Amino acid sequence: MSDPRAVEAGEYDALYKSYVHLTKEVENLSTIREIALAIGTSIELSEILPTIATVVQGALGVRKLTLYEWDKRASIGKPLVAQHGRDLITMDRLAEDQIEIEGSTFGGVLIGGAPVIANSEYECDAYIPLISKTDTLGVMHLQDRDDGAPFAQEDTALYQTIGGMIAIAINNAQLYALAVTDGLTGLYVRRYFDLRMEEEMEQAKRYDREFALMLFDIDHFKKFNDTHGHQTGDMVLQEFADLLRNNTRKSDICCRYGGEEMTVILPESAMEEAALLANKLCDIIRNHVFTGTGGQDLSVTTSIGVSAYREDFDDPHAMVEAADKALYKAKELGRNRVELDSY
Ligand code: GH3
Ligand code: MG
Ligand code: MG
Repeated sequence: MSDPRAVEAGEYDALYKSYVHLTKEVENLSTIREIALAIGTSIELSEILPTIATVVQGALGVRKLTLYEWDKRASIGKPLVAQHGRDLITMDRLAEDQIEIEGSTFGGVLIGGAPVIANSEYECDAYIPLISKTDTLGVMHLQDRDDGAPFAQEDTALYQTIGGMIAIAINNAQLYALAVTDGLTGLYVRRYFDLRMEEEMEQAKRYDREFALMLFDIDHFKKFNDTHGHQTGDMVLQEFADLLRNNTRKSDICCRYGGEEMTVILPESAMEEAALLANKLCDIIRNHVFTGTGGQDLSVTTSIGVSAYREDFDDPHAMVEAADKALYKAKELGRNRVELDSY
């Protein structure tokens, strides 16, 4: 009599197949988990894109990964970020790698919303649509697997799941960026300013770090509006914001505090450095030729109050108040100048 526990040859094959299948599923789940954890670490697009590129390329074991955004108006695929081997390539270095949508594989993937695999003896490619809900945001382009194998049709389900996660992450980051950005100037809104001040102050207190704050208020802007019109006033605010962005570091946080008042938070900066920059900005604004709605040349000046973190500031409000007092003094002393918090 045969052992009832013995497994027939056919059954063994079936069991082995299901074992391989399950092992693969577990691997896929752990890949998905790794990616989900990584992209959940930030809501800022500038942080999320490099994380996605690096983690997904590593987790999927491919030589190159590029994320493209679908610019529907220009009908092109705009590269957002790429990971080539160990090199992370950011958007500014990818500008020339735009892809025409019309008649390309890309176009097919975007419009069809389904992945395309193209293996040849020279190169293996997988194009995965990035779909958030029903909206296709772009494409993830995978090139050449590390193990040299061609892309397999059976892996597309995993790729699509990951494409969906990436799309949701990008979509959320874009919505967040929209929510924290002022529509007229593109600067951060007041709520974001408050949030970052809280964060900077906590860091300063905990790690004994410096940071400074500049508060800007355009001089006699009411009169400027009355003379040149509100629309020209708006254009000046936009140009003013550009001057702040273009003359500060990427890590500095430029905000529209309200109306014609702007602020810049300067992480890792002490009073001396902030004072130098404030004076430089005051000069830049005074010397800048602004343009009105009729193309006319115009000028404005600004008053600036500066404060730097001190231990006796109990909360961000105290530091803002110190900068505001300095600003008030600058106004009193004739405007078009910088005053520092004097304690
Ligand atoms: P001061 O030198 O004392 O700052 O004088 P000011 O006239 O600039 O002072 P105040 O703060 O009283 O006036 C600010 C003016 O800024 C009032 C408003 O007409 C103008 N303003 C505020 N927000 C906007 C905006 O979004 N667009 C335009 N065009 N003007 C704005
Ligand atoms: Mg004001
Ligand atoms: Mg003003």
